[in-house]
Amino acid sequence: MIAKQHLINRFISYVTVDTESNPESDTTPSTAKQWDLANALVEELKEIGMQDVTIDENAYIMATLPSNIEKQVPTIGFVSHFDTTPDFTGANVKPQIIENYNGGDIVLNKAENIVLSPKDFDDLLLYKGQTLITTDGTTLLGADDKAGIAEIISAMEYLIQHPEIKHGKIRVGFTPDEEIGRGAHKFDVEKFGADWAYTMDGSQIGELEYENFNAAGAVVTVKGKIVHPGYAKGKMVNSMYIATDYINSLPRLETPEHTEDRQGFFHLYSIEGEVDSTKLQYIIRDHDKEHFEARKEMMLKLADELNSQFEKEVVTIEIKDQYFNMREKIEPVMHIVDIAEEAMQQAGIKPIIKPIRGGTDGSQLSFMGLPCPNIFAGGHNFHGRYEYVPVESMLKAIEVIVNIAKLVPEK
Ligand SMILES: [Zn+2]
Repeated sequence: MIAKQHLINRFISYVTVDTESNPESDTTPSTAKQWDLANALVEELKEIGMQDVTIDENAYIMATLPSNIEKQVPTIGFVSHFDTTPDFTGANVKPQIIENYNGGDIVLNKAENIVLSPKDFDDLLLYKGQTLITTDGTTLLGADDKAGIAEIISAMEYLIQHPEIKHGKIRVGFTPDEEIGRGAHKFDVEKFGADWAYTMDGSQIGELEYENFNAAGAVVTVKGKIVHPGYAKGKMVNSMYIATDYINSLPRLETPEHTEDRQGFFHLYSIEGEVDSTKLQYIIRDHDKEHFEARKEMMLKLADELNSQFEKEVVTIEIKDQYFNMREKIEPVMHIVDIAEEAMQQAGIKPIIKPIRGGTDGSQLSFMGLPCPNIFAGGHNFHGRYEYVPVESMLKAIEVIVNIAKLVPEK
């Protein structure tokens, strides 16, 4: 396989470039600094010998590894994103390398007493004896999803250096702005031209996902009436009390903090209120399409019920679908999941198949005509200072990509 130090150097060259995305921006990429890494990736893809390397006006990168066999086989793709989340700073990342991890506390930052401990994150113990890459406690790491990019490029490099390994045509796609939900928006599926693809954007080694939430956002606006409090009797309508009634009418236990696995929820994530007007912002999530629709119905019905207590409409609600469970697009082509599973088993990895409690670029791409399950990239504790990645998991991800490439012509 690829030399460990070579992979570490490659990964560090990516995470030390700040590519934080910004949901407030309307441009693509949402931040100009994402171009810095995008342009470097284009050069690197050319350097390792990839063909048809392109970058479009929105910084979407595509490249081809041509088939080296006569037989016509499906074209497959591998996709990851180069932006990092705006939830935590990605500027001045100073990665630390912990060799032969001993299973104890890792002091990320002595001055600020920031410690990465298996007492808080017991999955660390899975990686005793391995090489971990961590932050210095002041930034995120960006293994989400620069680990995925490092793995895809390394696997392509390996296949180019080993022409004796037979494979069909492989396409590579790197996107901006995944973390703000727009990674797939301007992805040209037709130009990509793959029969199916895999996002390398999961977490723990072994993860393989083809089910995600159905997702919608809801904005509930309550209109009140502001009157001088001394003369308000029978006149004032306090929107905050009505909004509170609305909040309390939704099932209190169907919230993120009370649900797991396949259980859906309503998540109230913002309240802005005055007497005159209150705005509630929710997200609605459910793996099951019928339950998802029922949740939206319930929110509409509650608004109606509250309105019926007043002479005129006080509660308005706007619900917008965000993304859907890719399962319905994957099930008709289940062999693409089976191939990934087999590729993991060949690499000695036990596949962990579970529904994602979130979405991926792959769910959007699946609905755009590119079925796209998600495979682990190896990192943990994404979106914060405790993010880390075991190098051995990244090496295994590279092996999985190579095995998938090998398996496609055999099917
Ligand atoms: Zn990601």
